[in-house]
Amino acid sequence: MSSDRIYPAQRPESMDAFWMPFTANRQYKQRPRLLASAEGMYYVDVDGRQVLDGTAGLWCCNAGHGRREIAEAVSTQIQQMDFAPTFQMGHPLPFTLAERLVEIAPAGLNRVFFTNSGSESVDTALKIALAYHRARGDSSRTRLIGRELGYHGVGFGGISVGGMANNRKAFSAQLPGVDHLPHTLDLGRNAFTRGLPQHGAELADSLERMIQLHGAENIAAVIVEPLSGSAGVILPPLGYLQRLREITRAHGILLIFDEVITGYGRVGEPFAAQRWGVTPDIITTAKGLTNGAIPMGAVFVSDAIHDAFMHGPDNLIEFFHGYTYSGHPVAAAAALATLDIYQRDGLLTRAQDLEQYWEDALHSLGDHPNVIDIRNTGLVGAVHLASRDGAPGTRGYDVFEECFWQGAMVRCTGDIIAMSPPLIAEKEHIDQLIEILGRVINKAN
Ligand code: PMP
Repeated sequence: MSSDRIYPAQRPESMDAFWMPFTANRQYKQRPRLLASAEGMYYVDVDGRQVLDGTAGLWCCNAGHGRREIAEAVSTQIQQMDFAPTFQMGHPLPFTLAERLVEIAPAGLNRVFFTNSGSESVDTALKIALAYHRARGDSSRTRLIGRELGYHGVGFGGISVGGMANNRKAFSAQLPGVDHLPHTLDLGRNAFTRGLPQHGAELADSLERMIQLHGAENIAAVIVEPLSGSAGVILPPLGYLQRLREITRAHGILLIFDEVITGYGRVGEPFAAQRWGVTPDIITTAKGLTNGAIPMGAVFVSDAIHDAFMHGPDNLIEFFHGYTYSGHPVAAAAALATLDIYQRDGLLTRAQDLEQYWEDALHSLGDHPNVIDIRNTGLVGAVHLASRDGAPGTRGYDVFEECFWQGAMVRCTGDIIAMSPPLIAEKEHIDQLIEILGRVINKAN
């Protein structure tokens, strides 16, 4: 495909106009990291250097790069029909895709609302939760509960329930009536735990305190990531998600799992809900849905919630919400091709086969200098570095940057290095990633 590329993958003449998202623009533009092509587990940058993808792009390319089946499905679909609305109109693909998706979803989550991104999936889920209670005549249930260090995208809904300070503090207008559960990062009790931490299930009980304070009859939903990815792979203590489920169920509060990162195989089952045996009322997804190739998100909703919307007169729109591109034919084609690959190649459970190897490899970095915690589950993990005195985040950034020049793409959140390799990874890719990271950490004084 590269021979007849229309837009050449060369260093651009000017880099002034593009205001880059979530990036230190001025710093980046001094020595840009420019990726030009990708195949399998590797990117190639504009200078022709190979870079091992340790992060599945941005937690999304679960089947690795350059999947021809996805490219062909997209190209064929654009030629057959580039766009068709799904407001009061339709076309076959999102119907087919939704049926395929509920086959891999937790039992009972049989309805799918399509979006274009994780942020939109989150806002959609919050709006469904609020409208659901109202549809049942329970309209005092308007409060939402998120969690400290949670990341739920960048819409006003998402930053309101999210708990990463930098994503909130420059924007004064946020949803009213939002509380945050405490986060579950506990370096004191859980550092260097392999798999899910033993300690901290009781942190879920703070939900009971919020219920006592506000009254369950005023609370619509609790939203958490099963594991907090963007904040640096913060894992749910054993029993914690179960406890959240028990409390929300007992009080008629909806439980939303934001599985934008954990969805589509990252922790060894299609969804974290299945791996950890807790079924929420709503699941938000995006990223891996199309292997990152075309923007698309999907919100899985329980039958009970969906059916609560369906009791009005037949000619009335049940839910006043949607996006021009909800169920876009090209995105749906990409998602169907992606699902075919995931299912044919067993990728939705492959992280379980690699988990032990991944865990041992990551924890081999435990006695490297400045490593204060290592966390892992499925095929996701983090190496938590000590901050430099007075300069938090600089060690993590230096490691991230140097890893790239040494040939491995990782992510940094402050001083935490996060990794989530494509689910097609072989042991030698894990070895290569850990070898580069270890070498770089040793030099990052
Ligand atoms: N929720 C979670 C858990 C995420 O990790 C992300 C993205 N990293 C989002 C929502 C937002 O997704 P997007 O960037 O596609 O809007």
